[in-house]
Amino acid sequence: MDQDATIDVREAVVEEAVDDALVAHPGADEQPARPPSRPGLSPSRANDFLQCPQLYRFRVIDRLPEPPSPAAARGTLVHAVLERLFDLPAPQRTLEAAHGLVSPQWAELREHSPQVADLFEEPAALAEWLVSAQALLGTYFGLEDPTRLEPAEREVQVSVDLDDGPQLRGIVDRVDVAPNGWVRVVDYKTGRSPRAGFESSALFQMRFYAFVLWKTRGVLPKRLQLEYLGDGVVVQHEPSEAEMATFEARIRSIWAGIQDTARSGQWRPRTSRLCDWCSFKTICPAFGGTPPEVPEGAVERATGVVVGSAA
Ligand code: SF4
Repeated sequence: MDQDATIDVREAVVEEAVDDALVAHPGADEQPARPPSRPGLSPSRANDFLQCPQLYRFRVIDRLPEPPSPAAARGTLVHAVLERLFDLPAPQRTLEAAHGLVSPQWAELREHSPQVADLFEEPAALAEWLVSAQALLGTYFGLEDPTRLEPAEREVQVSVDLDDGPQLRGIVDRVDVAPNGWVRVVDYKTGRSPRAGFESSALFQMRFYAFVLWKTRGVLPKRLQLEYLGDGVVVQHEPSEAEMATFEARIRSIWAGIQDTARSGQWRPRTSRLCDWCSFKTICPAFGGTPPEVPEGAVERATGVVVGSAA
């Protein structure tokens, strides 16, 4: 499965950290009151809701843990290697250096997310997986020459509070700024590029980042660039301000759909071929499963909707 359709270890950690930092400390009566958590929305979770409201509920409302998959873990590993690669002086950013970073970054990933170590029972399976990560890095070097790049920012967490809406949040892999001030947003994908006509989901994510950067920095990125390491394809797009207005209407419509669903409590499963890779299939009502009770306060925390009210 394309790892980009799964929840990325890196993304899950950041989303939880943001949420935890915002949640009011329970029982801290003696401390100054902290603002309540503001509901957030990332491009991945917006896509979850569009794909299947039940999936969105499991991930965002219930916050159920998901076992890592080899593909998702490989995506996290390759992102980490590319991130560290740019720590090196430009002339040292070679493919050999990138391959040399795989082992230490794998060790770091295991330390951060110990469950990924359980993915490989046999040393041969782990070795094969590491080779596949190296192959993706090889493809990256066919797309760009990192010795000629000097990113302005990497792995940057961006967010903006939408008026009367959620906090839009995301992690941008790389931001390049040209000498003339033009901004390019780059995102690495370790899966394969979408077939012609199916790029809209990936571009939605890039428009999301462009919108947040535009709102927070006042500069609309000149170019959005998706680099698919699974098949060596680069997708580029130049956003416009008119497009950003359309995007804002779109994200507000998605958020309204999420809040309407929260009020109704009807997080309907929407089956598709993606169900075969869904972590929650055994508890999904579409497959005879029984979801757990929604934790108290979880709907309000995630969506701002007080269950049972018209808020
Ligand atoms: S198994 Fe399919 S229908 Fe059920 S939650 Fe997962 S994606 Fe949705």
